[in-house]
Amino acid sequence: MKEWNREELMEKNPILWDISQGKEAVWVNPDYVSFQEAAKGAELTMEDVLDAERRLKRFAPFISKCFPETRKRGGLIESDLTAIPAMQEHIREKYGSVLPGKLLLKKDSHLAIAGSIKARGGIYEVLKHTEELAFARGLLKETDNYAVLAEEEARKFFKEQIIQVGSTGNLGMSIGIMSAAIGYQVIVHMSADARQWKKDLLRSHGVTVKEYVSDYSGAVEEGRGMSDENPDSYFVDDENSRNLFLGYAVAALRLKTQLEEMGVTVDEAHPLFVYLPCGVGGAPGGISFGLKQLFKDCVHCFFVEPTQAPCMGVGMITGLNSKISVQDMGLTGRTHADGLAVGRPSGFVGGLMKPFLSGEFTVRDKKLYDYMRDLWEAENIFLEPSACACFQGPVKFSESQKIQAYLKQHRLEGQMENAVHIAWATGGSLVPEEVRRAYRETYLEEED
Ligand SMILES: *Cc1c(COP(=O)(O)O)cnc(C)c1O
Repeated sequence: MKEWNREELMEKNPILWDISQGKEAVWVNPDYVSFQEAAKGAELTMEDVLDAERRLKRFAPFISKCFPETRKRGGLIESDLTAIPAMQEHIREKYGSVLPGKLLLKKDSHLAIAGSIKARGGIYEVLKHTEELAFARGLLKETDNYAVLAEEEARKFFKEQIIQVGSTGNLGMSIGIMSAAIGYQVIVHMSADARQWKKDLLRSHGVTVKEYVSDYSGAVEEGRGMSDENPDSYFVDDENSRNLFLGYAVAALRLKTQLEEMGVTVDEAHPLFVYLPCGVGGAPGGISFGLKQLFKDCVHCFFVEPTQAPCMGVGMITGLNSKISVQDMGLTGRTHADGLAVGRPSGFVGGLMKPFLSGEFTVRDKKLYDYMRDLWEAENIFLEPSACACFQGPVKFSESQKIQAYLKQHRLEGQMENAVHIAWATGGSLVPEEVRRAYRETYLEEED
C-alpha cells in the first residue's frame, strides 16, 4: 500500500503540477539551513571524505602503473577547471541571461579512464573493495607500495573474484574498465537507455555486458540478484553506496586547490554556485556534500535533472525520497540524457542532502543538444548531452524569480559581481566521433 496520494502531494507542493506535466521548473529547497545546523544531523563527516582521499593517494602508484595517462597527475584521477568566458558571453547573447560573476567549467567529462564523473565514485568503490580483499588475503599492507597489486600473485587472486554493477552506461564503464585492469571478472547489467558504443567499449575490455529492456532500477535489481547468489561476487550498489558517495566527495578537496591555484577566492564576499547534473544522486550529492564541508555557507549547490526524469527533485520535494518514482508522478522516465535516466533516486542521498542542497533546475532534452552545440561553437569543447544539463543553471539564473528571492534571503545580492559559477561537466570525452556528429545534428521538438 502506498502511504501517499498524488493529489495530496500536489496540493501540498504546487511545483509538482509543473513537474508532473514535464515543464521546466526551478525549485528552491525550503529545508536548506546553515552549514553548522545541517552538519549536526549528517551521518557522514569531513573525516570520511579525508579517509577516502587518503585511500586514493595510497592507490596512486598502482593507478599510475596501469593507466599511463594518469602519470602527469601522479596517479590521481582529476580534471581541469577552466574559465569559459566565450560560453558565458554566448549565453548572454542567445538566451538573454546576464550571469553576474564568472563562469567556470569543471571538466569531469575529460577524467582519465572513464571519461565521465563516474571515474570518481565508481573507481573509488572498486579500489576500496580491492583494498579490503587484499588486506584480508595478506597481499597488501597499508604501508606498502600499492603497485604490488599489478603483480602476478595479486592478479591471480582477483581473477577468481567477480564485480557486478547495474548501469545506464557510464558507471558500467568506470567500474568495468578499472575492475578489468585489476583482474576481476566483471559483469555490467545495462539498462535499456545505455548507448551501444558504451557496451561495445566495455566488451573490448573483456567485460561481460548483460542487456535489459528495463530501466536503471530494473537492471540494478537483476544484477544484485545474480551477485547475491555468489559469495565471490561483489555488487556495486549505486543506489545506496556510501563508498561511491565519498569517492565523489573527494572532488571538493581537489577543487579547492584548483580554485586557489587560479587565484579564485571563495568566502562571504565571493559566493560559489555549482550546477550538477543528477541521476540517481550519488555523484552530485557526494560532490555537493564535500563542497559544503569545505566552503560551508559560501557555496550554493544546485542539481539539474531532465524534465521527464527528475527523480531526486520529486523525492526531495515530497520528502518521500526513494519511496516515490517519476512514473508515480505521471512522467515517462525516458530521456536522451542517458546518464540521468533514473526513475527513482538513491535511498539515502535525498535524506542526507535535505539540509545542504540549495535547489534544483529541470531541463528539457531539446535544450541539452542546444547547449552542447553552444559550448562546441563558443569554446570548442565537446560534452555528451547528459553533461550539458549543467548549463541550465547559468541560463536560468537571472530570469528565475525563485533564484532572485534566494539571493535576497541569503543576503547575496551585493556580492553577485564577485560570484563564481561552476558548471559541472560530467561526461563526454570517450564519445566516438561518429556519435558526436550524430548528436550535433540532433534537433528535438520543444515537446520531445
Ligand atoms: C551518472 C552521471 C551523472 C549523475 O550521477 P548520479 O550519481 O547518477 O546522480 C551525471 N552525468 C553523467 C554524464 C553521468 O554519467
